[in-house]
Amino acid sequence: MPELPEVETVRRMLAPLVTGRRLLEIEHDDPARYATAEAAVGRRVLVLRRRGKYLIFTLEGGIELIVHLGMSGSLRISEGTHTRARLEFEEATVFFNDPRRFGRLQAVPTGDYRTLPTLARMGPEPLSRGFTARVFAARLARAARPLKPALLSQEPVAGLGNIYADEALWRARLHPARPANALAPSEVRRLHRAVRAVLRRAVDRGGSTLGDGAYTRPDGEPGYFQIEHAVYGRAGEACLRCGGTIERSVLGGRSTHFCPRCQGGQAATMPTRG
Ligand SMILES: [Zn+2]
Repeated sequence: MPELPEVETVRRMLAPLVTGRRLLEIEHDDPARYATAEAAVGRRVLVLRRRGKYLIFTLEGGIELIVHLGMSGSLRISEGTHTRARLEFEEATVFFNDPRRFGRLQAVPTGDYRTLPTLARMGPEPLSRGFTARVFAARLARAARPLKPALLSQEPVAGLGNIYADEALWRARLHPARPANALAPSEVRRLHRAVRAVLRRAVDRGGSTLGDGAYTRPDGEPGYFQIEHAVYGRAGEACLRCGGTIERSVLGGRSTHFCPRCQGGQAATMPTRG
């Protein structure tokens, strides 16, 4: 699933093509799924921004067109084999390619995210000034679940999915099953630094294109961060830090990759209450 670095890469490529341009038409084959997007038609794009894993076209007249790429969606500048919608702008066409049809395209009044609960509850942008270790600690303290699913919820911080949550936890030397609300302040600071470092580096590398090729940039080119993954997709291989063996387990229903040797054992790090 495209995460912050992939969505940010898409945003940076599309912004110059659509900013200031009017959206003339949305052509699609699925009225039930894309019906609300019609409200965006005829409006000029003021800015293309990103919030977590969502792309948000801020349009004139107090409307936002929100795109979530879902499991395998992508925005392309040429037509693909699974084009579900075609966004015709003045002087540019953007194709919404979505093989598995989990992606969403919907228009809402600006800032009205009642139909988008994940967006409504989303934590701070990890690369913004507002995301401090103190803010992160307060938000983690409210998460009564293990670190990995807590991060995937988008509530402690925005933008992490399965790949970057695993990579950040490895960098921070924290076990993914540790209770999120029981970290020591020094551990929160480590995770805070790790989240920012991993995401910054991945944005620089244009995101991660995996073997399934589901994610590419709008021009069809891959990202390059996958060759720097330390744990994601490396089960059975040697840890780059300690030489231990990377394990894959399932946590909160999602595959999770970590080094049991240098990320600590779950049992040894259970919180003590009282
Ligand atoms: Zn290790």
